[in-house]
Amino acid sequence: MVAPERVRLLNDSSPRSGAAYVLYWAQTSRRLDSNHGLACAVERADSLGLPVLVYEGLTRDRPFANPRFDSFILGGARDNAARAAQLGFGYVFSDQRGALYRMAEDAALLVTDDYPGYLVREHNARLPARLGIPYYVVDSSCIVPMACFTKQEYAAYTIRPKINRLLPVHLRPLETAVPTIRWAGPLPVVDASPESGGGRVAAMKRLREFLAHDLARYAQDSREPTQRATSRLSPYLHFGHISSLEVALAVREHSPEFQEQLIIRRELAFNFARHGPNPRTLAALPNWARQTLAKHDADPRDYSYSHQQFERAATHDVLWNATQKELLRDGVIHGYYRMYWGKKIIEWSPSHQEALDVMLDLNDRYALDGRDPNTYANILWCFGLHDRPWTERPVFGMVRYMNLAGMRRKTEVDAYVKEMQ
Ligand SMILES: Cc1cc2nc3c(=O)[nH]c(=O)nc-3n(C[C@H](O)[C@H](O)[C@H](O)COP(=O)(O)OP(=O)(O)OC[C@H]3O[C@@H](n4cnc5c(N)ncnc54)[C@H](O)[C@@H]3O)c2cc1C
Repeated sequence: MVAPERVRLLNDSSPRSGAAYVLYWAQTSRRLDSNHGLACAVERADSLGLPVLVYEGLTRDRPFANPRFDSFILGGARDNAARAAQLGFGYVFSDQRGALYRMAEDAALLVTDDYPGYLVREHNARLPARLGIPYYVVDSSCIVPMACFTKQEYAAYTIRPKINRLLPVHLRPLETAVPTIRWAGPLPVVDASPESGGGRVAAMKRLREFLAHDLARYAQDSREPTQRATSRLSPYLHFGHISSLEVALAVREHSPEFQEQLIIRRELAFNFARHGPNPRTLAALPNWARQTLAKHDADPRDYSYSHQQFERAATHDVLWNATQKELLRDGVIHGYYRMYWGKKIIEWSPSHQEALDVMLDLNDRYALDGRDPNTYANILWCFGLHDRPWTERPVFGMVRYMNLAGMRRKTEVDAYVKEMQ
């Protein structure tokens, strides 16, 4: 049974009698396996003697929509349609407005994902009152359910012991849910180009490659971007093509360093998205960071660039330009250089709020894994969130600073710059 901490009922409607199915709406956990939301839908459907219809949508006019993200989602839809047919689910993929309302008309109840961000938060606030059927949300994003933490955590050191205490309960495989009543209606074909890059098949392949070639050297090489030793799973995690639970079980105990990122840092970000203030202003920062940044906001800058100059990778700094080129070309930046990318935007923007605006816009617009709880927690980390005060200096105040000389000392800057040319 799906743990009750994962499930919330957001309205008091009664199940529709004479309904044809239970509807599962995959908003962010876009997968059929390792999905607590779908498992919950199967439990409800079995008790009502109904099949399950899985619906996955693509809103073409959403903020930051672009072909790169659409193609990633379509790759997932192709895999999901095939897997749904295998397991006995109905499956619909649609980019039509109103599709959800039409499908809800024949549904006994709806189950969807609990997710503290981008679009999903607004949908889950608006739709329960409108659909006229029970509206359940289920947390399948985090290993330890978000509901286990009732307030905003201050930093990794405050959430870490709490997560570690609860991991033995929640770090357990979730069997693929199979509905008792198989879907008997027509099965759709999703026409998506095989080279889209996204999807369940590609995610599992990436995980297998990571386990075979990179996990053992993660602790040593994950901070050297040219080594390509990290998992590169963040886009698949973002679109829900793979669950962090599956990844954590697959790497189990082999790399505490990797688990620190995948579990502690990631779930700290979800905690911030769920309980923290609006991440789009500096008011979201802890007091010490707000105060020190306010004191240094008017400091003279050695360089000052516009949004457009940043976007075009047109600064004086070869490493920074290379990171921005990686973002434009591949939709990712290696995690270590991503910190440098953020810190330099702070250093070279006319004000701190303008720096935050530029970072949010560029990351959400171009990063495959953008628009994610990790996006906002990490961008604000560059301004001091979840961090501690360091030595005071111009522009940054006591917020941690990074420089090119340090990057050259610790990483192969020239080799990376050459790769990005
Ligand atoms: C300015 C800035 C912006 C960022 N924006 C995003 C973003 O939009 N989306 C995103 O997923 N991550 C973001 N990160 C965090 C991190 O850089 C990426 O998660 C990581 O680089 C993804 O590559 P990977 O999958 O190879 O990571 P790995 O090193 O293989 O880590 C495995 C997984 O752990 C999680 N993880 C790793 N680092 C962090 C971290 N610092 N905080 C929280 N979770 C982490 C991710 O889910 C990642 O896929 C950002 C970091 C910075 C400094």
